[in-house]
Amino acid sequence: MRTILLSLCLGLSIAQLHAQTRETENLIIIGWDGVRWQEIFTGVDSAIMNDRTFTKRSAEMRAEFWDSDPAIRRKKLLPFFWGTLSQQGQMYGNRTLGNKVDVANRWHVTLPGFTETLIGFADSTVDGNHSVPEKDANVLEFINNQPAYKGKVAVFATSKLYDNILNVKRSGLIINCDSEEVHLPGTAFQLLNEEQRLSPQIFGERLDLVTYFQAKEYLKEYHPRVLYINFSETDNYGHAGSYDWYISTLHGQEHLIADLWTYIQSIPQYKGKTTLLISNDHGRGDKVKSQWTSHGPGITDSKDIFILAMGPDMQPLGEMNTSTQLYQGQIAATLARFLGLDYVADHPVMPVITTMFKK
Ligand SMILES: [Zn+2]
Repeated sequence: MRTILLSLCLGLSIAQLHAQTRETENLIIIGWDGVRWQEIFTGVDSAIMNDRTFTKRSAEMRAEFWDSDPAIRRKKLLPFFWGTLSQQGQMYGNRTLGNKVDVANRWHVTLPGFTETLIGFADSTVDGNHSVPEKDANVLEFINNQPAYKGKVAVFATSKLYDNILNVKRSGLIINCDSEEVHLPGTAFQLLNEEQRLSPQIFGERLDLVTYFQAKEYLKEYHPRVLYINFSETDNYGHAGSYDWYISTLHGQEHLIADLWTYIQSIPQYKGKTTLLISNDHGRGDKVKSQWTSHGPGITDSKDIFILAMGPDMQPLGEMNTSTQLYQGQIAATLARFLGLDYVADHPVMPVITTMFKK
């Protein structure tokens, strides 16, 4: 009896310890395709804005987003990040301050990037954008395998690559990607399915806006503990060489992220108990300005990425100005740590970004 009592007491104290050390009970993760750190930290780029090859409506862009001071410029473009997230969270990747985040993989393209983010290391067997079911377990699957999170981890992605990145057959995660309909009851999902079917597939995928509202509706109805959302259009407009559309998409999707953050403040499960993390799969060219449209092993700047995060367990240090080097593969273990979990897998896992945490 004494042993049972002792283990009960020990069990309780461990649970209490966790409750004290981690306030995060939910995660929202945004995987943003091909967004450059340069726009996140310095706003619109005047060299690209003033080049008629890439920007048709430069006068309008200048009027809406330009200022000679980069601190004002970036806030015009991304008001939620520089008004709210910078006050409550941390922003890594401003290389002008020596704060570096790189992809560890050698490809600098989408599939290896989001794979590294989610499995937690650069798997050398991942072959560019050649999509096959990923052999290595990922952190979302790891979280979903914990009893408290079973069936409460959901993924809404515009890119069709996610079924393979997350190995849907093995992982058993709730994943809706590409142009898959949502097979759930309710008029909102019916309307979104219809919108998906009838709206133009400009880049051969559904619109990011449909992905967003499917995810938001799912959160509203099913209250997942972990919600992952992928947006693709920023990368597509970059490849199309349209800085007008790249910038307006970046600005518009930052509004979506702000909308979701504001919305969850009205739900007791999420308010004050949710950590938001935003990152990209790769950067784009910059030193050779015409290469802003592209990325890949031949474009060195495209290994440069960013990580933005805010939540109740974070030190609110805002824009990180220390000279450090982080890697994309560190995101996975960091996500688990927010929930008080140590991400373990039968493959290498890069270390947690410890500077994010209060303790
Ligand atoms: Zn791309």
